[in-house]
Amino acid sequence: MSASAERRIAALRDEIHKHDHLYFVENNPQISDEQYDRLVAELRSLESRHPELITPDSPTQRVGERPLSGFKQVRHRVPMLSIDNTYSPDEVRDFDGRVRKLLEVSSIAYVVEPKIDGVAVALRYEAGALVLGATRGDGETGDDITQNVRVIRSIPLRLGGDAWPAVVEVRGEVYWPRKAFDETNRQREATGEPPFANPRNATAGTLKQLDARLVAPRKLAFIAHGVGEIDPLPAEVDRYWLMLDRLRGWGVPTNPHTRRFDDLEALLEFIAEWDAQRHKLAYATDGLVIKVDRFDYRDRLGNTSKSPRWCIAFKYAAEQAQTVVESVDFQVGKLGTITPVANLRPVLLAGTTVRRASLHNFEQVERLDIHIGDTVTIEKAGEIIPQVVSVDGAKRVPGARRVAPPSECPSCGGPVQKDENGVYLRCQNPSCGAQVVERLRFFCGRDQMDIEGAGVALIEALVAAKLVHGYADMFRLHERRDDLLKLERMGEKSVDNLLAGIDAAKSRSLARLLAALAIQHVGASTAEVIAEYFGSLTAIAAADESALQQVEGVGPEVAGSISRWFRSDAGQKTIAALQSAGVDPKQTRREIAADSPFAGKTVVVTGTLKNYSRSQIEDRLKSLGAKVSGSVSKKTAYVVYGDEAGSKLDKARELGVATLSEDEFEHMLTRS
Ligand SMILES: [Zn+2]
Repeated sequence: MSASAERRIAALRDEIHKHDHLYFVENNPQISDEQYDRLVAELRSLESRHPELITPDSPTQRVGERPLSGFKQVRHRVPMLSIDNTYSPDEVRDFDGRVRKLLEVSSIAYVVEPKIDGVAVALRYEAGALVLGATRGDGETGDDITQNVRVIRSIPLRLGGDAWPAVVEVRGEVYWPRKAFDETNRQREATGEPPFANPRNATAGTLKQLDARLVAPRKLAFIAHGVGEIDPLPAEVDRYWLMLDRLRGWGVPTNPHTRRFDDLEALLEFIAEWDAQRHKLAYATDGLVIKVDRFDYRDRLGNTSKSPRWCIAFKYAAEQAQTVVESVDFQVGKLGTITPVANLRPVLLAGTTVRRASLHNFEQVERLDIHIGDTVTIEKAGEIIPQVVSVDGAKRVPGARRVAPPSECPSCGGPVQKDENGVYLRCQNPSCGAQVVERLRFFCGRDQMDIEGAGVALIEALVAAKLVHGYADMFRLHERRDDLLKLERMGEKSVDNLLAGIDAAKSRSLARLLAALAIQHVGASTAEVIAEYFGSLTAIAAADESALQQVEGVGPEVAGSISRWFRSDAGQKTIAALQSAGVDPKQTRREIAADSPFAGKTVVVTGTLKNYSRSQIEDRLKSLGAKVSGSVSKKTAYVVYGDEAGSKLDKARELGVATLSEDEFEHMLTRS
């Protein structure tokens, strides 16, 4: 091992940690994304040459390894209690009165923090390195979600500076910033998955994913709001306010809106002011948390059986309004999903006039038992899209019609069917007019084929005039110039612009084209890895489900969806039509060594290897043309095993499958 590589690796890690902090915590990036990517690429390449130098706190290790089969339980050394809620200034005064009486003092300093609507977690650092992330659970015991918190980039893998105690347990909130939440929902809708309704619930669900690779792209964030075990606690840090200072110094994100008050009246004024300000934040908050500052006071106050006596939450009332459901529309999406949307009597809510509210699906309609003409309560949960939360049954007019799921598609009259989960209703007619328009709109959209000049109105006109039926027809519009000129508002100039936009779109990458086809579960990032792996439409079409699953991050569900699409009649026609219209982008494939002893063989890896992490050995095997599998069967060609290999190795020996130690594996490669 070369000492210079070791030094360079250490320097790169420091550099990357510093820029992560500037970017994700300070919001003040000092290098471009490209420069950042170059640093990471250099580190990755050095580490791949010196795998013995890879440590768990290296920034390259953020992306999780194998999916877990379940979560380990973790006992909290300091219980994670819940906080009592208050809803009025008077209740806050009562709280202050109780605290002063118990402590026998006349005034108390409080620290006040925004209450972020997220999921509480505990992060344990030993010798400055993140060793454990855990959920609150029942307060005594939570789930070990270390793998998932590691991919949250505002969480430092290593504390900054060097003056940290041996054990630092940071507590805080993992939350979903509004922008990232909307972005994920946009992608989910694009790939035909139901959007998440509520960021907090979706954050909790995300942290419970067994595969950290699904967590990383969701871009969750973290803000500290307390500490658990600190050992040793520095003597001079006798107050929470000073602890927050220390946390910031160690690179842990804390809330910049945190305030300290010596005076209860000033605190109550802040509560009143904050109600307006909180809506401007990049994340949802539903109140403030008020905490006694001094640690010795906190110790004296202690806890009730459920919550600490030294802190309380103030919650703002959710913004709600009452209105009337005038009618319900059924919208047909590009994959045929039929969504009920309520048209409301216009009502003012949280500063905007609300006229419509999504009812999401028919299960929701049934649960709420909505009838036309009903008086309903709507709410902006986390200030997102308005939701109908309840129906006032007492105000129902006699003879009101209940909202029933349509028995045929409201656009084409075609048959409808519930999807596999029984929640969504889908139109089954692939040439349904509404679906064709929605699909074309998506295909031409900025994030897909980016065809300039092809907006919704034009697409509707093209479909109505029967000039376009499918994607490929867009690329044949050159031959229909005269027909285009007959469309409303289409002069020579706009026709020229449209045709130029279509020409430019012909050279979009394979990844973009694949994402534009609106195949269920295939968003931009999945399309990218598949395009890179297969290199052409023809190669993707030829791949079966097991071949598709060789692509990193592609599981059975995604592989099944792609395979079904490419094998379907409509899929095959679409590909043939695109190719004959001259749209057939190629992408350079990842090099695969066809002559390796592992080409085409199914290989299982078990135990801990010396020179490879799990994802590294899998990448290595895939680049050697192997199929990596998780379970041993008669079809397995080799089992590569490391330390602490368990039942898989036993099973291989039982079945007579060839087994290779790590050294034997390396030896086979040098021999070939
Ligand atoms: Zn239809």
